[in-house]
Amino acid sequence: MMNYEIRTVTNEKIRHQIYDKVDYFIQKERLKDIFSTGHPDILRVRKIASKYDLLKLDLPREYGGMGADVVTMANIYFRLGKISANAREIVGMGHGRLLLDRWDEDRQRWIDRIVSGESFVGIGITEDGAGSDVRKIKSSIRHLDGISSILNVNKDYISRIYEADIFVFFVRNVEDGAISCVVVDDLNSIDCLRVSRQPMGLDGWSFGGLVIRDLKIPRSNVLHGEGKGLDVLKRHFAYWRILVSMLCLGSAYQAIEETIAFCKERPIFGGRLSDLQSVGHRLAESVTYIEAAKSLCIMAAKAIDESSNNALKLSSMAKWYSTEVAYKCLHMCVRLQGARGYEFNNSTRRRLLDIEGFLIADGSNDLMKSIIYKELVGKDIYNKTLLR
Ligand SMILES: Cc1cc2nc3c(=O)[nH]c(=O)nc-3n(C[C@H](O)[C@H](O)[C@H](O)COP(=O)(O)OP(=O)(O)OC[C@H]3O[C@@H](n4cnc5c(N)ncnc54)[C@H](O)[C@@H]3O)c2cc1C
Repeated sequence: MMNYEIRTVTNEKIRHQIYDKVDYFIQKERLKDIFSTGHPDILRVRKIASKYDLLKLDLPREYGGMGADVVTMANIYFRLGKISANAREIVGMGHGRLLLDRWDEDRQRWIDRIVSGESFVGIGITEDGAGSDVRKIKSSIRHLDGISSILNVNKDYISRIYEADIFVFFVRNVEDGAISCVVVDDLNSIDCLRVSRQPMGLDGWSFGGLVIRDLKIPRSNVLHGEGKGLDVLKRHFAYWRILVSMLCLGSAYQAIEETIAFCKERPIFGGRLSDLQSVGHRLAESVTYIEAAKSLCIMAAKAIDESSNNALKLSSMAKWYSTEVAYKCLHMCVRLQGARGYEFNNSTRRRLLDIEGFLIADGSNDLMKSIIYKELVGKDIYNKTLLR
């Protein structure tokens, strides 16, 4: 059974109070306007969210947080997606949850910085030679003694390279080759090379490579135990993929609503686009797919909240299915908008480009299917499918 380190909000009333608070924040701070500019300032929005105490949402209660469960966070991420997929992580701990392996004074300082909006956490797994195949990671950690270690990092195609000042890296132990999860807690005060890449979507988020050479760090910066990196990845992304899935569905849902409004207005053949039955059926199918995908996400979220054995499988199902559904619905929406949908700055087109990233990011959809297949047939056949 997997321990997901999150306290469950069992009280439906509290859950709805949290949704009301998030909705109020979204409206009061005009987040739709901020994200429609195409260059939202994510860190500024997080700073504002901290004033509403919303960065503590999924921080467990024992660390002083609100302890929102996965179902609650999933429903919040659907709301964020309606604004834009780029509004993810404007509330909650984001990848900062990786720092919650145990309590000590350093960790408390990191948490305080995160929930005040002063700091933000990035995650560095991918390297040029290690994408889906994380076992090929070459970034490394070498332990000098019981107190200090030397870190070498060469990550690429990762987000938040400028926004995050705390970074969690997945690196190989020089001693035994196992993968560990390690934190660098102040990226801005060390010698670090950032290489920018230009993504198709991801407005407001940086993307590219990070290189760190021979950085001395405390050995206690290894999180969740030395050599436990692959387990950490599984646990963390089982959670994270559900949020991302709901984010993508929220984005597609909003686009469908906007496309319906467009169809009601658009004159065609003496009537309106919405009068055509084939158009209506396409829209009806799309909302059906979205509701089905949402149900799968909530089922997966409950599985994590209840520490169920099939949480990883359900979360993998939710991720590939939801992101594909969102992508297909958005593609249908841009096509219904005719030539307008082909414009670069068309808001539905921007949503489509954002969601395309999530077919790959946070574990590619092919990888999700491999995880599910592993559960079906066991490790031996699974290893063959990965040519091991
Ligand atoms: C928008 C975006 C944001 C990202 N942010 C981050 C980040 O913050 N941190 C980070 O560490 N990484 C990040 N990534 C990188 C992302 O995690 C990797 O791109 C992803 O893991 C896939 O690795 P890859 O690109 O090297 O593709 P590869 O692993 O080389 O895969 C290439 C193709 O093969 C397919 N494939 C993979 N495995 C299988 C299989 N078993 N069977 C069949 N086909 C398969 C893939 O689906 C893909 O289509 C981000 C990527 C994107 C697009």
